[in-house]
Amino acid sequence: MNTYEELLTAIDAGDNGRPIYDPATGDLVGHAPQHSVADLNAAVDAAASAQKAWSLLSDADRCDYLQRAADAIDAAAPALAELITREQGKPYSGPGSRFEAGACSTWLRVTCSHDLSEETVVDDGETHAVINYRPIGVVAAIGPWNWPAMITIWQIAPALRMGNAVVVKPSEYTPLTVLALVKILNSVLPEGVLQIVSGDGSIGAALTTHEKVGKVMFTGSTATGRRIAESSGASVKRLTLELGGNDAGIVLPDADPKAIAEGLFWGAFINMGQTCAALKRLYVHDSIYDAVCTELTELAKQMPMGHGIDETNVLGPVQNKMQFDIVDNLVTAAKDSGARVLLGGEPDRDAPGYFFPLTLIADISPDHPLVVQEQFGPALPIVRYTDLDWAIEQANSLDVGLGASVWSSDRDKAREVATQIEAGTIWINSHGGVDPRIPFGGIKQSGYGVEFGVAGLTSLGVPQVING
Ligand code: NAD
Repeated sequence: MNTYEELLTAIDAGDNGRPIYDPATGDLVGHAPQHSVADLNAAVDAAASAQKAWSLLSDADRCDYLQRAADAIDAAAPALAELITREQGKPYSGPGSRFEAGACSTWLRVTCSHDLSEETVVDDGETHAVINYRPIGVVAAIGPWNWPAMITIWQIAPALRMGNAVVVKPSEYTPLTVLALVKILNSVLPEGVLQIVSGDGSIGAALTTHEKVGKVMFTGSTATGRRIAESSGASVKRLTLELGGNDAGIVLPDADPKAIAEGLFWGAFINMGQTCAALKRLYVHDSIYDAVCTELTELAKQMPMGHGIDETNVLGPVQNKMQFDIVDNLVTAAKDSGARVLLGGEPDRDAPGYFFPLTLIADISPDHPLVVQEQFGPALPIVRYTDLDWAIEQANSLDVGLGASVWSSDRDKAREVATQIEAGTIWINSHGGVDPRIPFGGIKQSGYGVEFGVAGLTSLGVPQVING
C-alpha cells in the first residue's frame, strides 16, 4: 500500500461515498465513506474489546508496534504526501505535504522516547506513595482540515502508547488523508485498536457523547470545542481541547527588519495561514514599521503559489470555499475601512481553485475584524504602535491565547516582554514551531490540556496512586 493509487483504492467508500475535490483545480480526488451512528457504535465496541489485550502488552511492546507503524509511514510517505497535496492543498515543497508526512513518523518515534517510569511522590520512611498512569480505555480523536495527518498522529500516538484504543473522526473536508493514514498504521497494529469513522459534525457529536468513550482529544474551532465541553459533561469525559487562536507578534524597536522577515513570513503564511498557531496579527514599532512592511512585502512577492504538485510552488490554495469567503470578506472590510494594502487583497474569484493572493494590510485599526477575529488564511494585518505597554495590552485583549511571539535583537528584553503575554507558547524571533518534546496547548478560550512531551503523554492516562 505504498503508492498513491493503492492508498486511494484501500479506502472503501461504500455506495454513498462523498466526493472530495482538489482545492487547487476542482478535480475529483476520491470518495470518502459516510458512516452512520450504527457504524460508529460498532467501531467503539470493537475498539473497547481490542483495548483490553493492547493495554496488557508491556510499554516496550506497544512502542515496538508504534516504531513499526512509523516505518510503515516512512515507506508510504511519498504517496501520503501526494494525497495531502491533492486533498488539503498544501504543496510538496516548503513546509508542505512532505514535511507533514515526515512529521507523522517523527512524532510516533519521539512519543515512544519519553521516559514514563513510576514516580515516587513520598518516601520518608513512614509513607511510600508512587504514581503510575493507567490507560483510560477508548479515546476519541477528532480533527480539523488544516494539518489532517499530522494532527491525527498528535492525538493517536500518545493515546496508543498509554494503552488506549482510539476511534478517529477526521474532518469532512480532508477525510481521505486520514483514512489512508489509518490504513497504513493498521497494516502494523493489532486488529481493532485503531478505528476510524468518517462523516460530518453529527458523527463527531455522537462520538463525544458515547458512553464507552473515556476521553476526547479535540482539535478544531473554539465554537465546536465549547459544544464538546458541554455534551461530554454528562458522562464526565476527560478532554484535551486544542482550539482556535489569534496569535499576536510584537516587533520591538531594536529588531532587524531584514533578519526577521523570513521568520515573520513563514510564521504568518505557513499552510496559507491555515494553522492554529500561525501569526495572525502583527504589532510593529513605529520606528521600524515601514522597513518591516517593505521587507515582508519584498519577500512575499517572491513566493510562488500554484498547484502543489508542481515542485516550484511553496504555497497552494486555501482548502475550501468557506475559508476562502471568510478571508475574502475580512480583507474586503479592511480595504473598505481605508487600511493600506501592501500586497494582494484582490483574488480572482472566477478562477478555478481557491487561490487567495498573499495579502499584507498596513495602517489598520487595532479593532478591525481582520485584527480581532481569527482569519485562518493568507492575510496579515500589521498594526503600528509607539508604546510597548499598549502593544502588550492589545496582544492580551482577546479571549483566545494559543501562541504569540516577540521579535528583538535583545533576547533578554524579548523574554521579559514574553512573560507579560497571555498565551500558551511565546516564541522569540520565530513563530509557530512545534516540537514533540515540548508541551503545547492554549489558555483562555484556545482550550485546555497540553499535547506533546511527557505532560502530553500522561494526559492520555489516569493517574493511580499506590500508597503503602
Ligand atoms: P471545526 O471545529 O469546524 O471542526 C473540527 C472537527 O470537529 C471536524 O472533524 C468536525 O467534523 C468536528 N465537529 C463539528 N461539530 C462537532 C460536534 N458538535 N461535536 C464533535 N465534533 C464536531 O474546526 P475546523 O474548521 O476543521 O478547524 C479550524 C479551526 O481549528 C481553527 O479555529 C483553528 O485555529 C483550529 N485549530 C486548532 C489547533 C490547535 O492545536 N489549537 C490546531 C489546528 C486547528
